[in-house]
Amino acid sequence: MGKRKDRFLAGFLTGAGLITSLSLMVVLIFTFFSKPKKPAGVKGNNVIAPYYQDKNFTPPPNLEKNSTGEADIRNMAKMKIPIIMYHYVEYVKDIGDFIRKRLDITPDVFEKELKVLRESGYQTYFVKDIPDIIDGKIMYNSSRSAVLTFDDGYEDFYTVVFPLLKKYQTKATVYIVYDFINRKGFLSDKQIRELVDSDLVEIGSHAMDHISLKALPETVVRRQIVDSKNKLEERFGTRIKTIAYPFGSFDSKTVEIAKQASYSAAVSVISGVEQSEDNLYYLSRIRPGIFTPQNIIKVLEKF
Ligand SMILES: [Zn+2]
Repeated sequence: MGKRKDRFLAGFLTGAGLITSLSLMVVLIFTFFSKPKKPAGVKGNNVIAPYYQDKNFTPPPNLEKNSTGEADIRNMAKMKIPIIMYHYVEYVKDIGDFIRKRLDITPDVFEKELKVLRESGYQTYFVKDIPDIIDGKIMYNSSRSAVLTFDDGYEDFYTVVFPLLKKYQTKATVYIVYDFINRKGFLSDKQIRELVDSDLVEIGSHAMDHISLKALPETVVRRQIVDSKNKLEERFGTRIKTIAYPFGSFDSKTVEIAKQASYSAAVSVISGVEQSEDNLYYLSRIRPGIFTPQNIIKVLEKF
């Protein structure tokens, strides 16, 4: 009797042990393969969380929705104007910095992209040119054109991107967070002044302090959109004509305030290359980084 009991207990313990080990393995495998958690907002002093299309995103009334509930601009009169969205251009030193790595493109890959665009006869434009392109006031070849944008105003825009823009005579628009100017890792007054003086760079607003611009009191949104424009203009003596919504987050009120503030266009993170009068204040963008340098042309041609 006692022996049988012992055997039962031994069997039970082995079974329990097996189940525990298996559960542990499942948890370990899950942890290993699962993606890093989506961060929100600004982390630390000089790292900004990546863009995610907010799942609560409410498109303005004139944006249609497709069957998955996502904004869809495919049915509207449009022009193909690919706007490429970059963040960091650097060799990320901290291999554990997933945020930075996910937003990064290395300088050698970026240079190859500029080279291949140049060699393939691509023309580059500023975001501020887009209203005039759509109006037909600027000559434009839709099969050989691109607009390069850089969000957040990181210092590497000056140290890495700017020299390459000059080398390949390529234009780019950089979106600056007003309160981040002169912070460690971000552009300084002196650097921005030099960029402003260049024919190759358009300076745009990325709001005052990189907060999401939707579902907020109007006074808060106005400060972010209107004050950032006025302050940038005053500080750098240049017209600020376009804005990039932080996190790509906006709503109808955001768009209305951007129009009232006399911006001529705004960029979102809605994926796509087709632009029109209808989405001038939430222009679509595409995001490279995971593509090989040769593929940047294929990516642009694919749409
Ligand atoms: Zn940003």
